[in-house]
Amino acid sequence: MNGAITEPAGSSNPSEMDRPVDRTDWVAAIPFFAVHLAPLAAFFVEVTWQDWLLCAVLYVTRMFFITAGYHRYFSHRSYRMGRAAQFLMAFGGTTALQKGPLWWAGHHRLHHRYSDLDGDVHSPRDGFWWSHVGWILSTKYKTTDLTTIKDFAAYPELRLLERFQWVGPWALAFGCLLIGGWGALLIGFFLSTVLLWHGTFLVNSMTHLFGRRRYATADTSRNSMIIALITGGEGWHNNHHYLPASVRQGFTWWEYDPTWYVLRGLAAIHVVSDLKDPPARLLDQARVRDGAFDIGMFRSYWERAAKVTGERIADLSARPMAPSAEASAPIGPAATGEDADACLPDEPLSTLSGLISRVLESADQLAASTRRTRKGTKGSSRASEASDHASE
Ligand SMILES: [Zn+2]
Ligand SMILES: [Zn+2]
Repeated sequence: MNGAITEPAGSSNPSEMDRPVDRTDWVAAIPFFAVHLAPLAAFFVEVTWQDWLLCAVLYVTRMFFITAGYHRYFSHRSYRMGRAAQFLMAFGGTTALQKGPLWWAGHHRLHHRYSDLDGDVHSPRDGFWWSHVGWILSTKYKTTDLTTIKDFAAYPELRLLERFQWVGPWALAFGCLLIGGWGALLIGFFLSTVLLWHGTFLVNSMTHLFGRRRYATADTSRNSMIIALITGGEGWHNNHHYLPASVRQGFTWWEYDPTWYVLRGLAAIHVVSDLKDPPARLLDQARVRDGAFDIGMFRSYWERAAKVTGERIADLSARPMAPSAEASAPIGPAATGEDADACLPDEPLSTLSGLISRVLESADQLAASTRRTRKGTKGSSRASEASDHASE
């Protein structure tokens, strides 16, 4: 799972991204599938309980490097640490075989910047497979666009680590083999790696599909206890999309978030500092329960409905007896000629997409004005800006 680094003018500029999803690079994906098969070889060797314990320990510790390091630190800067600790956290992250910290955090920032929009690297609107592993195995996001992660790309040791990201996992694998034998390698290392991958990937796929929404965010993120249990507290994904810069993702006492507990412990012994807590005044705002306009879900349902309708209209206009000009008439309002989109050659669909984008624009404005009104009534005028800026 090597990733190349490109210089800032990289091709993954989201504004240039085409909507169509890229194909999976099956040849480059061979190591990924080989790692999945490796634990099966354990049937032919002796496996001890220590190997299973090693599997659990490597899962938990490497998950911590991903959640506390790659995610909450490198992607969101939700706390601070010294340069040596920062490097160790990044190195620990590389042992999880999820590419380098710059690649991981850079792409994750795009996920927050364009959540469930065209620039989102792994939105489930492109299908479950794509959001789970498809995007990682595709040719589209192989390189690292350093403009998304300029702050950390400025550290030469992190750029070096990015280049030599294979050193950590290979050293760990050999260490397991030398000290614990084949059982330690196959169960301790490979099985925990596979579980770790899918545990992490579930945050990208499942938490935008299943669970509850507490906050009206502009995306489809949900909160899920099950995913929180699997990922060391990353299942409170709706909380996280609402306040991305918060170091804690569980906002209540019962929202299990061990990554945060450990970070608090590390702060107590001064390894990390400046843990950013969610501002208390924001925790009670933008609640779906209180009637905040849920633009994220509205957009999602609307797009799905529009896609089905669009396909039907395209079907109709493809039939010989339905000339394309007339085919657009039934869907009405935008066919008056005022709409610039209506002049495009594929008329029925573009008229529809013009209509859709106008409806979504008004919905966005409505959502923004709801937020403003709520802010006004609560008397916290900086609230929304703080949450908007919180992502980086
Ligand atoms: Zn998300
Ligand atoms: Zn995030």
